[in-house]
Amino acid sequence: MRQQIVAGNWKMNGTTASIETLLSDLLQGIAVQSPAEIVVFPPFPYINQVATQLAGSHVHWGAQTLSANQVGAYTGEIAAEMLTDLRCRYVIVGHSERRSLYNEDNVTVAMKFAQAKKHGLTPILCVGETLEQRQAEQTQQVVGEQLEAILNLADGVQGLSGAVLAYEPVWAIGTGMTATAEQAQAVHQVLRQKISALDATVAQQLPILYGGSVKPDNAKGLFAMPDIDGGLIGGASLEAGQFVEIINSI
Ligand code: PGA
Repeated sequence: MRQQIVAGNWKMNGTTASIETLLSDLLQGIAVQSPAEIVVFPPFPYINQVATQLAGSHVHWGAQTLSANQVGAYTGEIAAEMLTDLRCRYVIVGHSERRSLYNEDNVTVAMKFAQAKKHGLTPILCVGETLEQRQAEQTQQVVGEQLEAILNLADGVQGLSGAVLAYEPVWAIGTGMTATAEQAQAVHQVLRQKISALDATVAQQLPILYGGSVKPDNAKGLFAMPDIDGGLIGGASLEAGQFVEIINSI
């Protein structure tokens, strides 16, 4: 049985006060142990606060990105080692907003993925196509190339062991336009088959999350699909009630 995960990507939102409230509401809402691993991704300045508030709970935390480099003169960057120092378990790698707004190409994303693995963090590798690419029927090619960049690393397919994949169609992120459960399942299945051709065990154990306008009313249908192992939630993770409902849909 694959680990199921529901992760909340808060993006660039929150204050000391709002995060304290959000987490205390979340902890209250998920009083019952969930079968899913629950993870939140606060902005960097709040990771320590989140780590303190969540210590002893069964909610984990992580960072929204990390540096492709190890240590040194990289003004403004955050190293993998700093994240483990803050007891992060996860890190998001290659989110489409990083790819499109900060010019992260497949090579940079692969370097970040390698840094995460090297330091014992679990990377959540995001892949996904734009609307134009989907309309041009390039979805499989685009996500395939994004995945191959990681497979080309020294560790090859073994690098995906202990990692997490997230299919996030760009056109569904923050737009309210969710992929249907069938559309998402079709891409998840292709991704798993590609990996399975290289190593069936790695493919079988790899959690593949769906992200893009997941809400309480569509989560159940998505999570019921055989190759969808949970969700990466943006907007709805900023509201404790909605996030809890989504967690309970697993
Ligand atoms: P959304 O964001 O749920 O607000 O669409 C998802 C994501 O960017 O991971």
